[in-house]
Amino acid sequence: KGSDGKFRVTLIEGDGIGPEISQSVKDIFTAASVPISWESVDVTPRIIDGKSSIPQETIDSVKRNYVALKGPLATPIGKGHVSLNLTLRRTFNLFANVRPCKSIQGYKTPYDNVDTVLIRENTEGEYSGIEHVVVDGVVQSIKLITREASERVLRFAFQYAQDVGRPKVRAVHKATIMKMSDGLFLSIAREVSKDFPNVEFDAELLDNACLKIVSDPTPYNDKVLVMPNLYGDILSDMCAGLIGGLGLTPSGNIGDECSIFEAVHGSAPDIAGKGLANPTALLLSSIMMLQHMNLYEHADKIQAAIFKTLAEGKTITGDLGGKAKTHEYAQAVIENMK
Ligand code: NAD
Repeated sequence: KGSDGKFRVTLIEGDGIGPEISQSVKDIFTAASVPISWESVDVTPRIIDGKSSIPQETIDSVKRNYVALKGPLATPIGKGHVSLNLTLRRTFNLFANVRPCKSIQGYKTPYDNVDTVLIRENTEGEYSGIEHVVVDGVVQSIKLITREASERVLRFAFQYAQDVGRPKVRAVHKATIMKMSDGLFLSIAREVSKDFPNVEFDAELLDNACLKIVSDPTPYNDKVLVMPNLYGDILSDMCAGLIGGLGLTPSGNIGDECSIFEAVHGSAPDIAGKGLANPTALLLSSIMMLQHMNLYEHADKIQAAIFKTLAEGKTITGDLGGKAKTHEYAQAVIENMK
């Protein structure tokens, strides 16, 4: 907390529509009297020792405040540019990616009762970046699974399930084929489950999980799914599709010390600066952040107003079929909090 009695939170507004949707979050938080003061930082890469990296002030800010809200960052195309998102994830060791997908009343999709929570291992697996050419025409890519990273994300998943009152954890895997790597992940899941006697545990094959979720998502409404990196990347987008796409889905990147909350979508350069962006995904990410900070009352109040505004359907943005500008939608959310 700062000297004003408010929690200081790092704000990375990001590129493209980032500043517009961040403004909506700031306006709504002010109207809801959320006890947070923002510390805005820039992540424009600097070249240090020939490598592009994020500014030290940004790293220091997140380390000092422990919590950050982040808008989308455009990844420059071309050689020598690393993804800033990946850099942030590595810098702060953000080992778990939490992705809830809940149906939004007012936005019609084939199912109106989706409520999935997926936790993805965020640091290794197929995304370890270990690839090489064996001989011309033969490439090898290594999937790295370690006890340390697996146990860390699994323990987090069980703790999360217990804390949010959703006491069923399901590990999603392909241990039938990847006998050693996914086998290790699965056996650690079984071990960790013993430390959480109040949380039910089971496991499901990835292909079966995909088939079942798209056929009927309801049986997943009481579970927390946890899985290795690549599976989580794909399955979380599939779940996002069930509720209407990336424009509505929030996420949290959780680390040992710091956590960064962000919308799943990118910087939307095609609509940037026009006041057309839908701030809902960043807003829902900011609500996950408030819950993470135990500010449940403020989280509930803002979330209820967002859902009400969307359900009414009068003041919604173009991507949802409406005509409202970003700030008009934010204003409607503020009205609905009164
Ligand atoms: P995108 O998500 O930015 O856009 C895809 C489509 O969805 C576009 O038509 C866009 O207008 C629309 N859209 C996205 N968010 C919206 C919102 N809030 N409201 C209304 N419409 C919205 O994906 P892209 O075009 O592939 O990527 C653009 C840039 O964003 C790239 O530089 C990419 O690297 C970056 N990116 C960043 C992140 C991140 O920071 N986490 C994630 C994905 C992509």
